[in-house]
Amino acid sequence: MGNQIELLVNLQTIDLQLRERTDAIDTLRREMAELDAELAAQRQALDAARTERAELESRRRDIEGTLADEEAKMKDRRMRLNRIRNEKEASAVRREIEVAKEGTAQMEEELMAVFDQLDGAKAREAELAAAHEALAGRRASEGERVELEIGELSSGLDEARSRREMLAAGLDAGLRRQYETIFARKRGQAVVEVRGGTCDGCHMRIAPQLANEIHRNTRVITCPSCHRILYARPPEAATSNA
Ligand SMILES: [Zn+2]
Repeated sequence: MGNQIELLVNLQTIDLQLRERTDAIDTLRREMAELDAELAAQRQALDAARTERAELESRRRDIEGTLADEEAKMKDRRMRLNRIRNEKEASAVRREIEVAKEGTAQMEEELMAVFDQLDGAKAREAELAAAHEALAGRRASEGERVELEIGELSSGLDEARSRREMLAAGLDAGLRRQYETIFARKRGQAVVEVRGGTCDGCHMRIAPQLANEIHRNTRVITCPSCHRILYARPPEAATSNA
């Protein structure tokens, strides 16, 4: 049984290292995913600002086109007015000119409003474009750093996993399952030492009779309060450590 407990302790050491590395890799990947989501949201905002500006530009061109048409029509009306000798016809054209002037004034006002909106839209677009460029740059450099870091964290993972499998193969199948269940449930503290008569996992006192049994190492004993697997360092190890 002593050999089994020793295997478990070694297995736990590897499992903790493996978990630390895979957690670190997960954290890095999550950070990148968050940055990507932020970048996508910014891209969307920038696209919306570009669409808004394009729509305003198109509105501006429409109004400018209509105003140019109107100017040509006005020139035509004035020429007609010069040729007309009939007063009734002349006043009709004058009336036409007045109505057209009103319309033109309204359109000019609208054009001014569009110019104002365009100023705002251009400023927003420039701001969003700069922010997007900055974030994209950060994403690129962070991405490079993170890939390097993940590469470093991953190298050795395969080796540690095969070492783990070799150790685990030497374990009794039931004990291995018991260990893995506790490891998952207790956040990586499945096998703990009994020190000074207390469980190192939950710090509850272990009855002397049970402690003696743990020292004898004849069967697998779990802590009555936290259910972790208990072990005691062999006396010679304790002496050599002292
Ligand atoms: Zn305990």
